[in-house]
Amino acid sequence: INPNNIDIIISAVSSEQYPNTGLSEIALSGRSNVGKSSFINAVAGRRNMARTSSKPGKTQTLNFYNMDDQFIFVDVPGYGYAKQSKKSREQWGRMIESYLAEREPLSAVIQLIDLRHKPTEDDVLMYNYLKHFEIPVIIICTKMDKISKSKVEKHLKIVREAIDFDPDDIIIPFSSMDKNNMPKVMDAISKFV
Ligand code: GDP
Repeated sequence: INPNNIDIIISAVSSEQYPNTGLSEIALSGRSNVGKSSFINAVAGRRNMARTSSKPGKTQTLNFYNMDDQFIFVDVPGYGYAKQSKKSREQWGRMIESYLAEREPLSAVIQLIDLRHKPTEDDVLMYNYLKHFEIPVIIICTKMDKISKSKVEKHLKIVREAIDFDPDDIIIPFSSMDKNNMPKVMDAISKFV
């Protein structure tokens, strides 16, 4: 990925605005503050590609990024933001649902889950939803640097058990700080583009 060849194509509010690029799309989903923007920036090799969350839950758009003409990252607004109104939660649900259920170029979803904690109810619901639609999932367990190396396996096990992980999917512990497992991340992405 050439960091100088990454562009936001569009912040879409409705399906008519989704771009036709001919490239595979990989959507990114996770609860607010999980580290999604940091992850996108890490893959992009850019510091400010995706905005890190100063206003969690505010952006109700699907942001399409052209990743060096190799694939499209689709940044889905974070879920589980407590202060969100019922109306905006419903609007979020409709937009995400129609994108995930109907979008033809969608080839996989990267779901981000905080490695430090047991997955939330929303994490579990989202993973079940993706599995219901038979969408391949790459689970990225974020903030790995906050856990001692000897405990990473134990935390991964907690995540796998809580979401009833499908062994055909991929799960990778990751830190946007040290980017240690980036080759594994790129390898996983390359399976779907
Ligand atoms: P988003 O709301 O999911 O887009 O989350 P952000 O990327 O904005 O990150 C939320 C907070 O977690 C910020 O303060 C980040 O600096 C921090 N963060 C994100 N990724 C990591 C990580 O891998 N390690 C650590 N230690 N902090 C992280």
